[in-house]
Amino acid sequence: LSYVESKKIQYYNIFRSFCKGNSSAVVLGELMCEKLKVSTVEAVCNKTAIDLAGEMRCTFPAFSGNRLNLEKHVLKSLAEKEDFDGFITYIRHPRKQAEAFIKEEVQKYIFTDNKDKARNILKKHVEDIKNLLSQALFTATEKVKKQRGDPDMWVKELSSLLKDQLTFNTICCQNFSDINNFDFLKEETEKGLVSVIEEVSSLSLDKMKEFRMKPDQILIDQLCNCCWVTCPFCAAVCTNTLKDHSPDKHNVPFPRPSGIKGWHKTGTVELVIDFCTTSVASDKSFRPHHDSDEYIPYKEYQKAGEEYATWQITPDESKLTYWKWFVCRFQKQLEDHYKLKFQGRGEIPSEWRKHSKEEK
Ligand SMILES: [Zn+2]
Ligand SMILES: [Zn+2]
Repeated sequence: LSYVESKKIQYYNIFRSFCKGNSSAVVLGELMCEKLKVSTVEAVCNKTAIDLAGEMRCTFPAFSGNRLNLEKHVLKSLAEKEDFDGFITYIRHPRKQAEAFIKEEVQKYIFTDNKDKARNILKKHVEDIKNLLSQALFTATEKVKKQRGDPDMWVKELSSLLKDQLTFNTICCQNFSDINNFDFLKEETEKGLVSVIEEVSSLSLDKMKEFRMKPDQILIDQLCNCCWVTCPFCAAVCTNTLKDHSPDKHNVPFPRPSGIKGWHKTGTVELVIDFCTTSVASDKSFRPHHDSDEYIPYKEYQKAGEEYATWQITPDESKLTYWKWFVCRFQKQLEDHYKLKFQGRGEIPSEWRKHSKEEK
């Protein structure tokens, strides 16, 4: 039933064309153009998407490095917008926020900042396919004429000449066996292709969203295919570029205060202000599981279970200004989010408040 349904329009068009008194050559030409239109649109969209992704990978700073570079741009954009919800998404599901960033920037690049460039890439691919079609029509027609072939052979020749660039399912030629003037068939097809090419040239770039290749998805696949495990203390993302890099431990270059992830002093509302790299050098202990009273010294954090054992947190005093600014700027929102406070042992050092957004 689905097969018959899918053929309905096609057969209706054939029927209608014959009713108008058109010859078989005209009808087959029309049918061919209809098939070529569908596959041309798809090929042009896929090629344009691949080119645009490649172009952005070279020229757009956020996409022209590795994931760590991408992350810096994600954080820069979050800070510029002072978007607390975005920050929370980033802290809890960093990959989700990175993907949202890529989608947003790609949209802006293609539809606002580089509209003309994007259109020109599409037009170039339409032009290439136009030349390919015209060449294939000529070659197929000449061969069929020379070998005294039939319409079936003409369709097969054409498909095989185009198959690397355009794919379409074959046309059943039993209704067209009376065609013998292949020059006329070629002319009729060429006539129809003029409007096909015109239509494809004026396609909206939005059409790319309907096909297999999407510029944002290509970039997501290239940039996000790495380790996304987050630090059990501060939620910073492991920077390893391999998805599964065991036995190498997870590692972060830029730790954050653990309060960002909601760590607090047991039995109090005091959020932890220490960076995880400071904590692991201290003589303090932590309780890895809410449902257990077991405390583990920070210095032996790797004994706290699988989630901790797979991390290499190097004691370090370097603290990124960015996160100091973040905690100060969003203190209230963080406190409300976790229903905890930066007070007592979690008091924000007054020196942190001196940092401006521009400084980070
Ligand atoms: Zn950490
Ligand atoms: Zn990792």
